[in-house]
Order: sequence, then C-alpha cells, then structure tokens
Amino acid sequence: MSALDRCTFCQSRPLEESAVLRWIGPADRSAAENEERVTIPLCTRHLARLRRAGISGWEHRGRRHKLGWW
Ligand SMILES: [Zn+2]
Repeated sequence: MSALDRCTFCQSRPLEESAVLRWIGPADRSAAENEERVTIPLCTRHLARLRRAGISGWEHRGRRHKLGWW
C-alpha cells in the first residue's frame, strides 16, 4: 500500500495531493521556529479543515498546517 492511499492525518482515502506549509510554533508565522514546504495527500475532511483554518493554520501534534506554500 503506497502512502498515496491514505490521508496524512487519518485512514481515509485522499482526495488529492496538496501543497502545504508546515511549521512549529504559534499561529503567527513570523514567530515560526521551523517551516517546511511539503506536498501531502489529504482526504475531503482534512482538506476542508485546512481550508477553514486559513492563514493561521490547523494545529496537529504540535505542528501547524496551511494550504499553499506562500
Ligand atoms: Zn484525513
């Protein structure tokens, strides 16, 4: 089973691969300790969750995730 068969955050089938900016630290990215640009598979539910979170990002296990690399 390839990594593409599952969403990064749950067991669901991913809808698509999305460009995501991931960082450690507060919602204010200017204070981010570490920033990574990754492309990860997301299911419908988690894609919606990241969209809702917007620029402050969605926090999961100590890291924030925002759609888009900018
Ligand atoms: Zn998911």
